Amino acid sequence: MAIDFTLNAQQQALQKAARDFAEQVLTKVKPAIAGLARPEERFFATRPLYRQMVKAGYFAALIPREYGGGGATTVDLTLAAEEFARVDVNLPTTLLSSGLALKPLMLYGTDAQKRRFFGDFLKPEHDYVASFAFTEEQGGANLECPDPSAGIQTFARREGDEWIISGRKSHPTNGGGWDGKGAHLYAVLCRTDPSKPPLESSAIIMVPGDAEGIEVTGYIDTLGHRATCSPHIAFNEVRVPVENLVGRPGQGTAICKRCFSWTGALIGGICTGIMRAAFDCAYEFAKTDKRAGTVPIIDHPTVGYQLVDLRIRIEASRYLAWKASHYIDTTDYRGEELGIMAKIHCSESCVQAVYDAMRIVGVTSYSDRMPLAGLMQEALAFPIYDGGNMGVRRRWLYEMLKTPDYNPLAAAQGVA
Ligand SMILES: Cc1cc2nc3c(=O)[nH]c(=O)nc-3n(C[C@H](O)[C@H](O)[C@H](O)COP(=O)(O)OP(=O)(O)OC[C@H]3O[C@@H](n4cnc5c(N)ncnc54)[C@H](O)[C@@H]3O)c2cc1C
Repeated sequence: MAIDFTLNAQQQALQKAARDFAEQVLTKVKPAIAGLARPEERFFATRPLYRQMVKAGYFAALIPREYGGGGATTVDLTLAAEEFARVDVNLPTTLLSSGLALKPLMLYGTDAQKRRFFGDFLKPEHDYVASFAFTEEQGGANLECPDPSAGIQTFARREGDEWIISGRKSHPTNGGGWDGKGAHLYAVLCRTDPSKPPLESSAIIMVPGDAEGIEVTGYIDTLGHRATCSPHIAFNEVRVPVENLVGRPGQGTAICKRCFSWTGALIGGICTGIMRAAFDCAYEFAKTDKRAGTVPIIDHPTVGYQLVDLRIRIEASRYLAWKASHYIDTTDYRGEELGIMAKIHCSESCVQAVYDAMRIVGVTSYSDRMPLAGLMQEALAFPIYDGGNMGVRRRWLYEMLKTPDYNPLAAAQGVA
């Protein structure tokens, strides 16, 4: 089939519904958190709006149809993510992070595990959140370190029919839950044997939030993403049944990689949404403000060229995010390279695009008269989180590049 980027009627309807939802509901996030000093208070204040997101079917969309969900494709979610993020990044991040925590089950879980864990989230009266805990308190960049004494320092030891998990995690989005006592469910990256390196011992274990020994030890006050939940979580000898292991020991970091290629594509959509918001702002200003001159500043070619470059950035990012999403959907989530590339490209383009929009507007952009400085606060998170762009470049893309059978045309040709 020839290349075709045309959105079908269902995708166009989904895009419009997400746009309308963003205008009707996500615009209320900023007023809801205004004046709230503590990060957890801001997160809690978004709960009624998150409920509306669940009610509108966006949580269910994450779950496969055969388990009672809406079975949205990655392309569908990326389209929605762009529309949401143009208005707000907080609730989409809460939603996406829950999706990330359930993704190991979707990709590696048994039928019994899926039935057991997905069911709760799909009850219409529930607004549960899940949390993917991979970043260690000491840092997340070296989770695959081959030295067994380093890397992931959260451990699970087996006793009879249970795993007993101990360790401290940082930043697991949603990890504090709606009541500050914990998320409904965690996917915890740990190691099952301290004497073996991660490639042999890393594992993802699902930990229900009501298990004894989970402690929310504090919250991180982040520069942007002000209404998301970024806690510190301690797992103190937390016992879960052996059946909560997803896949097998040694697969933990590989599972992370596939899950992060999925979020990578979606983050591409989110970054495109932020870039659109920045463009709209700069474009409107350029068309209407003369800055004490005689003509609107768009009439100065230097300004016009910058606007053109901004538009190019947006289009290029959008189509890379779409391509990565489509690749993930059509190669059974094996589009690791493109997913990560989309994350890196779109997030770095996003920071540059917001900065470019600020340069076009000038000093007014650095004030509360315009949303651009706020957009910059959001944009700066994208290259830093989800593994960090330098980290995923090094651990995943560079490692891939060094394999003897690396095929630089694989992504373009759509082969896994
Ligand atoms: C909004 C937001 C949401 C997040 N959500 C989650 C979440 O849901 N779950 C979660 O677990 N985490 C989450 N994080 C954390 C995040 O994904 C981290 O960016 C990631 O784990 C990378 O870890 P780090 O930045 O702590 O790296 P660190 O380990 O602290 O490393 C810091 C820096 O040191 C350098 N460095 C370290 N080791 C090496 C090396 N071997 N070679 C070269 N350079 C090196 C690099 O410059 C690196 O960037 C979130 C963060 C934010 C801001």
